[in-house]
Amino acid sequence: MKRLSTPEGLARHGFTLQGIKEWRKKEYDAGRPSGIDDFFRAHGLCVKCRGERTLVVGIRRRDADGVERAEKGPSMGLVEKYSLENPTNWLNETRKWDYLYETCHVCGGNGKYPSPEHPNLPSAD
Ligand SMILES: [Zn+2]
Repeated sequence: MKRLSTPEGLARHGFTLQGIKEWRKKEYDAGRPSGIDDFFRAHGLCVKCRGERTLVVGIRRRDADGVERAEKGPSMGLVEKYSLENPTNWLNETRKWDYLYETCHVCGGNGKYPSPEHPNLPSAD
């Protein structure tokens, strides 16, 4: 899945890194909130999932018996824990492992800010 942290993800929403930079500078110069979260808010996107509707909550991997497992936690830590860079542990021939996604709990999965049913909470991070 393309995420907003990548130029491709941004482009899907019609944004460019340059565009964001310009928006932030304009707001900053005007003395208004100019953080990246403010950008998403101003454009009606959920701050938590950045309009992606889902959050990465862990990884999917294949265990020693070839059974696919999903586990929640920080992805990089789990990749290390299960030696997922080792080809014998790969999910399939082409994929080492995959992210585990969960519907964003802040926007209820619609990617919008704010939504009447799920008013966005202040970002904890
Ligand atoms: Zn969301």
